[in-house]
Amino acid sequence: MNIMPNNLKRQYDLHASEYEKKAIEVLRGGWYILGNEVKKFEKEFAQYVGAKYCVGLASGLDALWMSFRILNIGEGDEVIVCGNAYIACVMGISMNGATPVFVEPDEYDNINADLIEAAITPKTKAILAVHLYGQSCDMTKIMDIAHIYNLKVVEDCAQSHGNKWKGQTVGTFGDIGCFSFYPSKGCGAFGDAGCIVTNSAELEDAFRVYRNYGSRVRYQNEVVGTNSRLDELQAGLLRVKLTHMDEFNQERNRIAEFYYNNIKNPLVQLPKIRPGADCSWHQYVVHIPGYRDRMADYLKENGIGTIIHYPIPPHLSEAYKYLGLKEGDLPLTEKYAKEVLSLPMYNGMTREEMEYVVEHINKFTV
Ligand SMILES: *Cc1c(COP(=O)(O)O)cnc(C)c1O
Repeated sequence: MNIMPNNLKRQYDLHASEYEKKAIEVLRGGWYILGNEVKKFEKEFAQYVGAKYCVGLASGLDALWMSFRILNIGEGDEVIVCGNAYIACVMGISMNGATPVFVEPDEYDNINADLIEAAITPKTKAILAVHLYGQSCDMTKIMDIAHIYNLKVVEDCAQSHGNKWKGQTVGTFGDIGCFSFYPSKGCGAFGDAGCIVTNSAELEDAFRVYRNYGSRVRYQNEVVGTNSRLDELQAGLLRVKLTHMDEFNQERNRIAEFYYNNIKNPLVQLPKIRPGADCSWHQYVVHIPGYRDRMADYLKENGIGTIIHYPIPPHLSEAYKYLGLKEGDLPLTEKYAKEVLSLPMYNGMTREEMEYVVEHINKFTV
């Protein structure tokens, strides 16, 4: 058997004719950027997460850097983010000239909210809450801290479309929720796409103007903006995806449950879900302290693909050398980078494939 870590074709096949019908409809419509499909998608996505507004953008990274730009957070400011975040989270901060300040993760692979206060300085302006792997951060604690210290909160929901913290969908707690629709994400487009959600009319308006060269009325430019427009084809296809999101998340939950009930190997630590959260399982990430690479090699030899999210933490990457951080500065983050492994997880995964993965993991010994 040959099992890929993610298999986008399988998800496509589940509803292929619906995507194909929509694609032809948009192509024949003759309007390709910022049109009715985008308008409808923005309305439907806002509804899906329970936010007042949604603005479609070109990518998740755009959503992040534009958020800090629009919140006026840049040179001389600090933004708190978890140490084991994806590099895009950190770039969203640093592209504006602001300094990322890393906080260690907790046992749920997300920012340890109990360590945030110690990282706050007079320069701190915001917390970037990254809901990594489809888990949810402790948004109650994070919002409490933000209120006490008067900080902005941006949520990175690129890996958590539709999951909830205490019944409320992530992305709606802070000032802005950022989403990516990169094809491999829980709600994936067929190319690059992203959006923000917010309950502030003022912020919504700022994003609309900023994404289109700072222009509200053609050829009248109010601010130095950018080009980050969602196209009609992606928006139309995302509208189709959105009608199946609950079904997709439920299926991923069933795969996670199968792994949880059947993986029995003392070397493998299964993911824990934070009490009060639900999980959309963007990734099913296990920890294998000491033997992660050996397990990955062994699974590969048996036709099972896995991925590491992420092997090099941002503070140790070449790109962030200038921050002056070194190995040992974030011990838990660095430990996680050496032991995490993402098991195959995708919509359309068969029972036989799940059983094959479990059987091989259980057989692994050192
Ligand atoms: C994918 C991802 C992004 C970036 O999204 P793009 O659409 O690829 O720019 C940002 N943050 C997280 C956590 C991601 O997983």
